[in-house]
Amino acid sequence: MDNIKQKVSYLKGLMEGMEIKSDSKDGKIFGAIVGILEEVADEIEELHVAQEELEEYLEDMDEDLSDLEEEFYEEDEEEDFDPDEDYVEVVCSDCGDTVCFEADILDDEDLIEVTCPNCDAVVFINDEDLHEEKSEKEDL
Ligand SMILES: [Zn+2]
Repeated sequence: MDNIKQKVSYLKGLMEGMEIKSDSKDGKIFGAIVGILEEVADEIEELHVAQEELEEYLEDMDEDLSDLEEEFYEEDEEEDFDPDEDYVEVVCSDCGDTVCFEADILDDEDLIEVTCPNCDAVVFINDEDLHEEKSEKEDL
């Protein structure tokens, strides 16, 4: 930034050195150009300062967000270690793949069909019979 201002100052110095009269035709044009350059340099400097402030602000926000994320995911991890959470494995009768699903759906009121990710065959339906069979294990 100082660089542009230095160059404008240098240009002004050159003009004075060339003894261009400020009220001559050339002098008026050069004077106007230098004036515009000075304004542009000032505005760029202001923008630069404003941008630095914004960058600082964003960095602070980024740090705050990271802290929040850490807190959030720590809590989430604790939930994942819930010992009550159980998984059920079923072997697909069509392709023999083992299909894993959360035992939670056994307690679900809605009818849920678990399909094999390999061949799309239905490997499990949480209907009454299966529900009772599994609930014994869950009472432990
Ligand atoms: Zn299958």
